[in-house]
Amino acid sequence: MTKVRVHELAKVLDTNSKDLIALLAEYGYVIKNHMSVLEEDQLDIIFEVFTQRFDKTVEIPNFGRTQVVTPVEQTPQKRKAEATKKDEPQAIAEVEPEPVIDEPIKRKVRHVDTRQTVVDINKLDTEKLEELVPTNVSEDGIKKQKLKKGANRHKDNTLSNKMKAQPVKEPKVKKEKKKVLIPDEISVGELASRIGVSPTEVIKKLMALGIMAAISQTIEYDVAALIADDLGAEVEKEIILSDEEILFDDHEDTPEELEHRSPVVVVMGHVDHGKTSLLDAIRSTNVTDTEAGGITQHIGAHRVRIHDKKITFLDTPGHEAFTAMRARGAQATDIAILVVAADDGVMPQTIEAINHAKAANVSIVVAINKIDKEGANPDRIKQDLTEHGLIPEEWGGDTICVEVSAKQKINIEGLLEMVLLVAEIRDLKANPNRRAKGTVIESRLDKGRGPVATVLVQNGTLKVGDIVVAGTAIGHVRAMLDDKGKNIKKAGPSVPVEITGLSEAPDGGELFYAVKDERLGKSVVEHRKQHAKEERFKAHTAVTLDDLFDRIKEGQVKDLNIIVKADVQGSVEAVRQSLEKLSNEEVRVKVIHGGVGAISESDVMLAYTSNAIIVGFNVRPDAGAAASAERQGVDVRMYRVIYNAIEEIEAAMKGMLEPTFREEVTGHAEIRQTFRVSGVGTIAGCYVQDGTLSRNTQVRIVRDGIVIHEGKLASLKRFKDDVKEVNTGYECGLGIENFNDIKEGDVVEGFKMVEVAK
Ligand code: GDP
Repeated sequence: MTKVRVHELAKVLDTNSKDLIALLAEYGYVIKNHMSVLEEDQLDIIFEVFTQRFDKTVEIPNFGRTQVVTPVEQTPQKRKAEATKKDEPQAIAEVEPEPVIDEPIKRKVRHVDTRQTVVDINKLDTEKLEELVPTNVSEDGIKKQKLKKGANRHKDNTLSNKMKAQPVKEPKVKKEKKKVLIPDEISVGELASRIGVSPTEVIKKLMALGIMAAISQTIEYDVAALIADDLGAEVEKEIILSDEEILFDDHEDTPEELEHRSPVVVVMGHVDHGKTSLLDAIRSTNVTDTEAGGITQHIGAHRVRIHDKKITFLDTPGHEAFTAMRARGAQATDIAILVVAADDGVMPQTIEAINHAKAANVSIVVAINKIDKEGANPDRIKQDLTEHGLIPEEWGGDTICVEVSAKQKINIEGLLEMVLLVAEIRDLKANPNRRAKGTVIESRLDKGRGPVATVLVQNGTLKVGDIVVAGTAIGHVRAMLDDKGKNIKKAGPSVPVEITGLSEAPDGGELFYAVKDERLGKSVVEHRKQHAKEERFKAHTAVTLDDLFDRIKEGQVKDLNIIVKADVQGSVEAVRQSLEKLSNEEVRVKVIHGGVGAISESDVMLAYTSNAIIVGFNVRPDAGAAASAERQGVDVRMYRVIYNAIEEIEAAMKGMLEPTFREEVTGHAEIRQTFRVSGVGTIAGCYVQDGTLSRNTQVRIVRDGIVIHEGKLASLKRFKDDVKEVNTGYECGLGIENFNDIKEGDVVEGFKMVEVAK
């Protein structure tokens, strides 16, 4: 074969020697100068790079082979980009190596490599071949290859099959297979050294797969494994574990290891429907003589026994506590008892509770309470429930409804039996024979005992003396008390216990693990403390309308969850329907909760845990909610008109959100007195609670969290004088332009619109 020098080839390829040398250096070859003779594999690389870069055919006749330089499949953008500089001579230095492609196997290699004399045609059916051959390969090119059919059979069905068209190599000398450990990602150089070959060998194999990667670039496990296997190595996946993964034993239990465990239950429902009474009734019906005289210790959770089976109840009723725990990642409950008062019906918090339970994938058992009361109408409750997706069993659905009276202790056992039935269907299991793992229910600092935490064991068995890590707390379990105040030595799955011995009081909802290695435990805790500190500085990652489009594009957002709060139920429904219609192929718009009234802290909590945006119509967040939304980075959007909301959310989904004007609340004043002034209208005596109120800001009048008017101030006075501004802690008199329906207790909210730079 004729010798080819760098400068000769550069000329043919319309480039210069320097660039060719630079290109080869990228692939690990040191070329002295432009007079150096190029080796076979160096030529391979150059041709391969040019094959993939150039949108034209270059014939290189005199180097002992004919090279057709023609592009492999290109993306439209790339084609466009290259078309613009197509006719200029191209400098290789400008040409970056092809980025590593995640799934090279899926990539369709569309050129037939003609630099080898033989193509193993056996692996290609003719149809495939037509597809593989670029249009500018001459007919007889194919014929020549077809002639070779039948020759050079070899059994290399690993890499070659996936490469579709690949040159046949000299048969490999069978060596002892070398074991190679490959992690999730590995650099080309590292892979070569682990296999024990030169980097160029790996690079060539990669090229054959259509991947251009330089020594320092990383490739994924699948590709690396393919290459290593093809180079005769035995591949084993290297699993790199983090300290936490080593410390916390999270391996799956086998079916044989699993044993039944009792259900963990939470009680939810609207205020005053009887959650607390029901929990009390359950506790007292269940006290048996053997249980320490019936004195129940308050540890945040307790167990009751029914027909020799046990049920664990979390003592804090309501979905707020439940969702707050869930916000920390806890998935501690199996069943929610939804309490609905038979004389009242399905109320806003009933619906919230349903939605919170559904979002957490918790089974619901309905307790229709207060059936002792006159006017109790269980059937109406069932009717209402069907409207929220809970169809009673007797009506053909799968929701169990039990009629009870917490006060008269009627049918409490029946309710508990139904809870057990649902638990049975759920087939709840755990493995008591391993180190414990579970959730912190609550904790406190006790003067005498130090940090005290109630934990619910969810898997394994917790024992006195165990080393426990919970959040940033660590320590040996010094003592353990059960819910009856009894000292116990060990606690299995679904058992709540109060433990002492931790270094600090962990947050409720935090996961805890019993661990083996105390030193590693301490280091993990230190690491977490550090990380928590850093997190506090970092920006939040909640979805906002402003970055929605980018996140949809990046595939991070597939469901756009929305919580709708409005002044009337009609608006909630109208908005739900219009918003859900915005769903398209990329994003599903889903209203996960809707309700009437001010935006509450529990709405913000649900938004935070479900990565949702809150949309409010003529309602305001209450003080706690506003602060919490800001802290958690939850996007809360307020509108006066439904159409505006639909338009804005649609625009956000399309990435066409205009640089918006965002309102900035300047302050609040409470109306303490009203006066009729003839010829002027109603004047309010106010007290500025926070911020300032200015003569020329816009204002809205908020009554019980609902906006009843939006407009301008007609006057602002301190005593008798007109003033421009009134600060926090001062009283003032004010009138609203064209609006007189103001009452004591209303809140005047001042706001201005500021432009938000995109
Ligand atoms: P929670 O706010 O949901 O925890 O409700 P409570 O348990 O505090 O109960 C609210 C009110 O309803 C209290 O005055 C209870 O005495 C009353 N109540 C609870 N259950 C029943 C019941 O079954 N029948 C009757 N008549 N009153 C009940």
